[in-house]
Amino acid sequence: MSRIEISDRALKMTVPLIIVGGGAAGLTAALSAKADGVDPLVLERDAVPHGSTALSAGLVPAAGTRWQKAAAVADTPEMFAADILRKAHDEPERGLVRLVTETIGPTLEWLADTHDLPFSLVEGFRYPGHSELRMHGLPSRSGEELIDRLRTAAEKTGIDILAEARAEVLIFGTDGRARGVVLSRPDGSREEIGCDALVLACNGYGGNPALVAEHIPEMRDALYFGHPGNQGDAILWGEELGAATRHLGGHQGHGSVAHPAGILITWATVMEGGFQVNLQGERFSNEAHGYSEQAASVLAQPGGVAWTVFDARIAGIAGQFEDFRTAERMNAVIEADDMQELAGKMQVDPAALMSTLEAVEAAKADGGIDGFGRDFTGVAKLVSPYRAVKVTGALFHTQGGLVVDHEARVLRHDGFAIANLFAAGGAACGVSGSKPSGYLSGNGLLTAVALGYVSGRSVARLLKADTSLAPT
Ligand SMILES: Cc1cc2nc3c(=O)[nH]c(=O)nc-3n(C[C@H](O)[C@H](O)[C@H](O)COP(=O)(O)OP(=O)(O)OC[C@H]3O[C@@H](n4cnc5c(N)ncnc54)[C@H](O)[C@@H]3O)c2cc1C
Repeated sequence: MSRIEISDRALKMTVPLIIVGGGAAGLTAALSAKADGVDPLVLERDAVPHGSTALSAGLVPAAGTRWQKAAAVADTPEMFAADILRKAHDEPERGLVRLVTETIGPTLEWLADTHDLPFSLVEGFRYPGHSELRMHGLPSRSGEELIDRLRTAAEKTGIDILAEARAEVLIFGTDGRARGVVLSRPDGSREEIGCDALVLACNGYGGNPALVAEHIPEMRDALYFGHPGNQGDAILWGEELGAATRHLGGHQGHGSVAHPAGILITWATVMEGGFQVNLQGERFSNEAHGYSEQAASVLAQPGGVAWTVFDARIAGIAGQFEDFRTAERMNAVIEADDMQELAGKMQVDPAALMSTLEAVEAAKADGGIDGFGRDFTGVAKLVSPYRAVKVTGALFHTQGGLVVDHEARVLRHDGFAIANLFAAGGAACGVSGSKPSGYLSGNGLLTAVALGYVSGRSVARLLKADTSLAPT
C-alpha cells in the first residue's frame, strides 16, 4: 500500500504544501504554514479528522507560559528539558528536546490568542516526572475539544482539508525531492496531487499489528487504544526512501484503562494517593514510576487486569476529566463506605485488601519509600468513602519514528536532510527514547504541536527562499 514512486512526470494539479494527516500535528502545521503565507492542503483518511488526538486527554505540557505565571508556577524550558531527559534516561537527542521545550509555550499562547484555543493550566495534581505543574488543557480537558477547535480554526482560516483521502504513494523526483502524493478514496478511485513541500503528520504504527509485533513484541497482544488508522505509513515510506528512523521500540503504554469499559482513567487516581492491586488484593509495583511502564506491569498480572483503589477526594480531582465522569456514569467506578464492602464489590479477599491498605497507609504515615520503591512522602491518606476501578494495560501510541532536524526536516541515514520533506507528531522520532519508561506525560502532544508548528514555519521559509518553488 504505502510505497514510493520515483518519477519526474508532470502532475496535473500542484499545491504548495501537502500535509498527510489531520491530527494535532497536521492541523498545527497547516495553521502555522498558513500564518506564514503558504496555502496547505491537508489529506485525512477519515471522514472527519480525529486521530489519536481526539482520543487523548488533550493535555499539552509547556514551560514558562503565562498561565503558569498567573498560578505562580516558576518554570522554564530548561527545567522541562531536564525532566524529559531524566525520564528518558538521556536517550533523546538534546537539540530536539531543546527545540520542542522552547517552542511549545509560545505555540500554545499563539493558538490561544489567534485561533481561539482557551488553554488553562491543569492544577490540583502533578504528573509523574514533571517537576512543576505544566499540563495545559482546554475547558473540557478532552482531546475531542482539542481536535475540534484546531479543525474549526483551520476552516476559519481557509485551510483545505480533503477528507476520506488516504495518501498511499509518495512521488519523489530523480533529484530526491518530494513531488506529490497518490491518494485513494473509499470507492477505490485514486487521484494524484503535486506539491512543493510535504509534511508527514500521519502518526506512528500503533494500528499496525505486524509492526507492533516487530518493534514492541511485549505489547503484541495488548489492547491498542490509539487511532486504528495510524498504520505506520510514515516509517514505511521513510524506510523505502533511505530516511533515518530511531527508537522504534519507544512507546507510550498506559496502566489505567477501565476494563471492560475501555475508558482512560486519569493517573491522578494513583498520584494523589491511590494504589493498584491484582485480583489477589496485593500490590505488585511502584505505581508512581509512571503510567506508561505500568501498562506491562498490569498486563503481567493474572487476567492482565488490576484494581486501582482510591477515595472520594481523589475522585473529585479526577472528575475534572470528561473520561472519568463517563466512567462514573457507566458504573465502572465502584463505591463503598469501608474496605470490607469495597473488597466484596471487587471480588477480592477482604483480608488481603485490608492488609495492603494498612501497609500503604503505614508508608504514608512514615513518609518513606516502601518495598516497591514508591516514595509516599507527603501523600494524603485514603479516607472513607472509597472508590475502585478495574483497569488493564494498553498501548496508546508509538514514540519512535523518522529522525528530523531543528527545522523538522526528515534526515537520511547519511545525516543530510531531504530538502522538502518534513515530519511532525507521531510520524517523527519523539523525545521518549527507546523504552516505555522513557515517556514523560504529555510527550505525545508536545511533539505533535511543537513539531507541527516548526514544520509549517520551515516549509514557509523553504518556499520563500527557493524561488523555483515559490507559491504561484
Ligand atoms: C487514549 C490516549 C490518551 C492520550 N492522552 C494524551 C495526553 O493527554 N497528552 C499527550 O501529550 N498525549 C496524549 N496521547 C498521545 C497523543 O494523542 C498523540 O501523541 C498525538 O495525538 C499525536 O498526534 P498526531 O497528529 O501525530 O497523530 P493523530 O492525532 O493520530 O493524527 C494522525 C492522523 O493521520 C491520519 N492518517 C494516518 N495515515 C494516513 C494516510 N496515509 N493518509 C491520510 N491520513 C492518514 C489519521 O487518520 C489521523 O487522523 C494520548 C493517546 C491516547 C491513545
